[in-house]
Amino acid sequence: MRKRIIAGNWKMYKTSEEAKSFVREVIGKLTGSDKVEPVVCPPSLYLEELVRLTATSSLSIGAQTMHEEKEGAFTGEVSPAMLANVGVRYVILGHSERRQYFNETDSAVNRKVQAAFENGLTPIVCVGETLEQREAGQTAQLVADQVEKAFNGIDAESAEKAVIAYEPIWAIGTGKTATAEDANEVCGTIRQTIGKLYGENVASQIRIQYGGSVKPDNIGELLSMEHIDGALVGGASLNPASFLRLVEVGGNE
Ligand code: 13P
Repeated sequence: MRKRIIAGNWKMYKTSEEAKSFVREVIGKLTGSDKVEPVVCPPSLYLEELVRLTATSSLSIGAQTMHEEKEGAFTGEVSPAMLANVGVRYVILGHSERRQYFNETDSAVNRKVQAAFENGLTPIVCVGETLEQREAGQTAQLVADQVEKAFNGIDAESAEKAVIAYEPIWAIGTGKTATAEDANEVCGTIRQTIGKLYGENVASQIRIQYGGSVKPDNIGELLSMEHIDGALVGGASLNPASFLRLVEVGGNE
């Protein structure tokens, strides 16, 4: 059985006080469930403090990006070793906003996935198509290609621990969600691609999230689909009550 993973991607939101107060409220109300794993990914500035605050809770902390090198003259960057050193568990890699605004290429994503595993971090690898690519019927091929490139050189033992997030770019922050059937179809393609690379066993273990305008009122239907094992949530993860509701639905059958 794959344990669901509901991850909040806070992007560039919240003051330090807001971040701490969110986490205190959420861990006070979380009822641990063996069916779902809650994660929040705050701005990097708050990671260490939030890891400390959540140390004895079931809430895990993830980063939103990282550089692939251990250390060096890369002004402004944070390394995988630094994230691991402060106790971060997850790292989002290849988010479409990183690809679009910060020139994160497939090969950079691949290097970062390798570096994440080398440092004991679990990558949440994001893939997804633009509206033009969807309308041109390119979604399955494009997403399979992004997955193959991201996992190039990664061994099966590592790959099975990874999380992949299918985030259609046209659904991010737009209020437009993919239908549960469409999302499931692409998540199925992702699972098939992993199966081709690593075999059925890894394909059946790897967790695949959907992301793009997920809200408390649509997450249930998405999670009811065969290949959707969780959600990567932006806007609706910023409010504690809404995040708790997403996790609660995630813990249901
Ligand atoms: P929204 O949930 O705000 O659409 O954002 C999705 C996303 O980009 C999560 O990584």
